[in-house]
Amino acid sequence: MRRSKQNYRCSFCGRDKSEALILIAGIEGHICEVCVEQAGEIIQEELFGGKKTENTPDQKFMLPDTITPREIKAHLDQYIIGQNEAKKILSVAVYNHYKRLRQPNQGEVEIEKSNILFVGQTGTGKTLLAKTIAKFLNVPFAIVDATVFTEAGYVGEDVESILSRLLQVCDYDVAAAEKGIVYVDEIDKIARKSDNPSITRDVSGEGVQQGMLKMLEGTDVNVPPQGGRKHPEQKLVKVNTENILFICGGAFDGIEKDIARRVNTQVIGYKSEDKMAGIDRDNLLQYITHQDLKRFGLIPELIGRLPVLTYLEPLDLDSLKLILTEPKNSLVKQYKKLFDIEDIELSITDEALTFIAEKALEYKLGARGLRSICEAIMTDAMFDLPSQKNIKHFEVTLDYAMEKINHSKLSRLKAA
Ligand code: ADP
Repeated sequence: MRRSKQNYRCSFCGRDKSEALILIAGIEGHICEVCVEQAGEIIQEELFGGKKTENTPDQKFMLPDTITPREIKAHLDQYIIGQNEAKKILSVAVYNHYKRLRQPNQGEVEIEKSNILFVGQTGTGKTLLAKTIAKFLNVPFAIVDATVFTEAGYVGEDVESILSRLLQVCDYDVAAAEKGIVYVDEIDKIARKSDNPSITRDVSGEGVQQGMLKMLEGTDVNVPPQGGRKHPEQKLVKVNTENILFICGGAFDGIEKDIARRVNTQVIGYKSEDKMAGIDRDNLLQYITHQDLKRFGLIPELIGRLPVLTYLEPLDLDSLKLILTEPKNSLVKQYKKLFDIEDIELSITDEALTFIAEKALEYKLGARGLRSICEAIMTDAMFDLPSQKNIKHFEVTLDYAMEKINHSKLSRLKAA
């Protein structure tokens, strides 16, 4: 008798094709994905007595006992220019977070999770800080954008898919993901806007905030492994978020006005000329408090779950210049290496570096703009020089940089 394709079944549990997601064919029969997973567990149990082996994530993803917050900051200093306050606060928060993980679950005092909120203009290093710390700790790290989430029922992704990205980066190793770091970008975009004329959008932002609460605090979340919306046929993976560190970031455009109003009121309240004089009006973000975030439209419950609040300073000309040359993998070092591979020594004059930094300031993209400006300047040389074998040295001067920028698409940015 010939069996039709529809009649294939798992030879172990009997599930037929309609009940299993996958049926893998062997010589004599088939096996479904559930039985494959169970077989894996049995092997683990039999060979290792159910215990994790040396290379399992529990040990692999653990901060060394001896590391101190100072050492964490020293590591961040190698990659991130300025932002001392943010680096210090992040180092302490991360240190405490992993100290908390090492504590046995006993005693009356339970150390709470220290999720972090970065406030700072675009391109000031928020993502870079989160990325650098995750790499240092050797933990899975995912970046998600809060703007893609909406409440269930609206078009967009479900909040749970924040964790899908984390699972994907560690090849669905749940134990590793459960110790990871998630950077949620543009958290300010889900703020409740009281003066927003569209009621629906208003509610949606608040709904996303509500949806994130449990996850930030620590709970079992059923995660759609492929991300996106939850589909009834998609098998969900349970991830516990108790030990996942969430770092949220946002520009919070316009929050300075709220801070200024608050600071002014306080100062007037004290009736002290001295206090007023002591306020640095060019960088009001440094005075940010949780109260300002509430006024901006974050719900108090969400603010409460992001207890560590810090700010990133806007980058000035000098910082942008340093970013070009100083970090361990700075742009200039990268270009030098690229040219070096071609046996060409690259140099960039100080005036050219100042010009690049000035352009980045002009385009208001923070340090993010540096890369595209450098590309616009370097592309022609990177295109031509490999075919000119006799050239051993190439210098980028101010004139050269200006000419390349003036003829590039970037120069149109200014007009825009
Ligand atoms: P955002 O604050 O918008 O998250 P990013 O961290 O993504 O900004 O910064 C974009 C890029 O700019 C980074 O990849 C990095 O190359 C550079 N950069 C930004 N800030 C700094 C900084 N303080 N030090 C060194 N590089 C920086």
